Amino acid sequence: MMRRVAVLTRHNKGRLISQALLELGWQLTELDSFDTDSLGSFAGERPRFMSPDECALRKAAIAAELSGYDTGIGSEGSFAPGPYGIGTFNLELICCVNISAGWAVTGRFYGPTNVQQWTISNNEALDQALASVPEGQKLLVQQHRYIRKGLSPAEARQQAGSLLINGGEFILGFDLRAHCCPERQQHIRLAAADLVQRIKHQCARCSTPGFWPDKPISGLPCEECGTPSTLTQARQACCQRCGYTETYGSEQRYAAALYCQVCNP
Ligand SMILES: [Zn+2]
Ligand SMILES: [Zn+2]
Repeated sequence: MMRRVAVLTRHNKGRLISQALLELGWQLTELDSFDTDSLGSFAGERPRFMSPDECALRKAAIAAELSGYDTGIGSEGSFAPGPYGIGTFNLELICCVNISAGWAVTGRFYGPTNVQQWTISNNEALDQALASVPEGQKLLVQQHRYIRKGLSPAEARQQAGSLLINGGEFILGFDLRAHCCPERQQHIRLAAADLVQRIKHQCARCSTPGFWPDKPISGLPCEECGTPSTLTQARQACCQRCGYTETYGSEQRYAAALYCQVCNP
């Protein structure tokens, strides 16, 4: 049976998500009349008081409520320094809630991006920066309180002319909004595909979706002395409704002595 699902979105993100949902036979309706920035504390450039997971969940619940459908979808993307502070990583979350059945499942993508930002003070630096911009990536320019977004490289070059004369220096960077960033679009597609896989995995006891082994259990025994290490020995799935759990052992049976507190303190 075709299930109707609503998503809150302003930047055509729905288009990126709907393709994956076809696998479930779901039809996505975009509620683009709703300005997610008006949600205040957790959208756009305003200060945040919620984790990305909470934001995605809340948007999904609002989408369901506004549409009157059982199922709503909310997405939340963020950029932050990567592990060990290296590079910039993109986290894309797509949460699906079913109000009447009472479950929520979140699909995710987390990985490195090629996000760039430059301080430009002359035409040579501008040429160099623009030459490294990937196909389809839109740009923003900023000088003090002046900011322009969604620019093609040609448009950015046009802006640059007067900015260099005006203030001598300006910021050039990637516009990271979903409709301006092809790499992010790809990450959103991957998060949507992850969501679909998680929804398809249902609890064996009560059929609630999202039965997914994402809880690592450490204690893989040392190959030399058998002491439990910090490495993962199994992954556990736990049903959010009935609490039924299943544990899946890892392929490795022993940890290298390198990871052992006793053999390699
Ligand atoms: Zn269950
Ligand atoms: Zn050991």
